[in-house]
Amino acid sequence: MADRRADLNIDRKSRAYQPMQPVAKQDASQRLEHFNEIYLNYEAEIACIEAGRCIQCPDPAPCQQACPLGNDIPTVMRLVENGRFIEAANVYRQTSPMPEICSRVCPQERLCEGSCTHGGGTSGEPVRIGKIEKFVIDYQIATEGIPLGTVALDTGKRVAIVGGGPSGLAAAESLRRKGHAVTVYDANPFPGGLLIYGIPAFKLSKDRVAAKVKQLETIGVRFVPNTRIGRDIPLSQLTAEYDAVYVAVGANKEVPANWEGANLKGVYQAGEFLIRANVPRPLQPPHLAESGRPVVGRRVFVIGGGDTAMDCVRTALRLQKAQGYKLDVTCAYRRTEAEMPGCRVERANAREEGARFEWLTAPKRFIGDKDGNLIGIEFIRMRLGEPDSSGRRRPVPIEGSEYMEPADTVALALGYWPDATLGEQNPELQTHDWGLIVADPQTGKTTMTNVWAGGDAVTGPDLVVTAIRAGLHAAESIHLYLSQS
Ligand SMILES: Cc1cc2nc3c(=O)[nH]c(=O)nc-3n(C[C@H](O)[C@H](O)[C@H](O)COP(=O)(O)OP(=O)(O)OC[C@H]3O[C@@H](n4cnc5c(N)ncnc54)[C@H](O)[C@@H]3O)c2cc1C
Repeated sequence: MADRRADLNIDRKSRAYQPMQPVAKQDASQRLEHFNEIYLNYEAEIACIEAGRCIQCPDPAPCQQACPLGNDIPTVMRLVENGRFIEAANVYRQTSPMPEICSRVCPQERLCEGSCTHGGGTSGEPVRIGKIEKFVIDYQIATEGIPLGTVALDTGKRVAIVGGGPSGLAAAESLRRKGHAVTVYDANPFPGGLLIYGIPAFKLSKDRVAAKVKQLETIGVRFVPNTRIGRDIPLSQLTAEYDAVYVAVGANKEVPANWEGANLKGVYQAGEFLIRANVPRPLQPPHLAESGRPVVGRRVFVIGGGDTAMDCVRTALRLQKAQGYKLDVTCAYRRTEAEMPGCRVERANAREEGARFEWLTAPKRFIGDKDGNLIGIEFIRMRLGEPDSSGRRRPVPIEGSEYMEPADTVALALGYWPDATLGEQNPELQTHDWGLIVADPQTGKTTMTNVWAGGDAVTGPDLVVTAIRAGLHAAESIHLYLSQS
């Protein structure tokens, strides 16, 4: 690998004045015709120019520090600037098991790009690190495929992974490469977790996830689909049969809606809405596959303000083609845009695609007709009060501010809780806050013998990249344990 310290004869000042090279994306009208990814890749020469804006901050570079995986971004930029794309891709692969996925879904504005010195510098625009990562990784895949990598000689040790989301997949790969026999159990028909059953294909192509799963199968990871641990097989059976178990079951139970009328026809939970609209039918759980794509009426409201809400808004907008009429899609959020937790870039994409936003508003009840179909929503206006435990100002209802809106479809994106089942069935597995698993923040070790845990199941809903990091850390700890036992 190139040592960027060996060649730092660069003119930082002139680099600081270079304008950012934008990445092309499809027109909004074009995007609404399909569910595919919207960003085009950099042309090679443009990628070189954009990477050449990197001023090669001295170690530790802020972008690298801000990356949960510690990707060596300055070295990548140096290589890309010099047209050495495959080498650059391999630098990513040293620290990240899924750069083709992270480059698409990481909120770079909050991570690497958010800390780029350029952002606060003369150009005011960070280097587009995420789009350069996507370019080099896609270049590598188009040129030589995902490299298979090496696998150590069999150790004779067996590890079970419960949950095949990004955290489970990262742990599975790392442990398999160290020579352990790895089996991934997942409740869904296909591995990937929220990469398949949450994040829509217009942000992350399902093919990318399928290719990753294929790579893992090729190096010997065994997948057992449609198997819910705690229902089909007890966790205690896995701890008895395997040398170690990594629990990465995510936090996928939707926060229940307690409003009157939440059971009306036309009111969807975000999870079901996204799966039925975005996931190819053969990969859907049978109980959803038989229902087909959601039917949406002309007036759609999405309740919530996070990434899931934005994904529902943009999914609804794409459903209008199938419906054959124009939809009016509004995101209703009880705080203001400043408190919205979701990714700013995705919000901008939603606006371009035609989404409307109603701030400081929350539903009071959903109203149905005599046949149980949603026909309207009673909203109430909110104001911001004192900060709550999260530090965000609490929304407070304004008495007497109620108003009615006609509505045909609602998607409720109210957030997710963990499933407490494994903790309830195994008292030695300590949990807290509605079922989040207690685990050592560095190693992922739980209070149960032979059991590690990580990802959203431990932290609550977070990010793909942090779930991957947890999987890698747990794999290191499990490997150490297996090497000593
Ligand atoms: C709609 C949506 C959009 C998002 N968008 C983004 C984004 O753009 N960028 C980003 O970084 N993050 C995003 N996130 C968050 C991100 O997807 C999660 O933080 C991440 O997937 C967590 O990974 P995980 O492996 O811990 O859990 P998950 O991805 O939830 O995977 C858990 C897996 O465990 C399986 N499972 C659960 N219980 C059992 C059991 N008892 N037995 C066997 N298997 C079980 C599930 O079927 C699932 O496959 C989004 C989340 C949602 C819901």
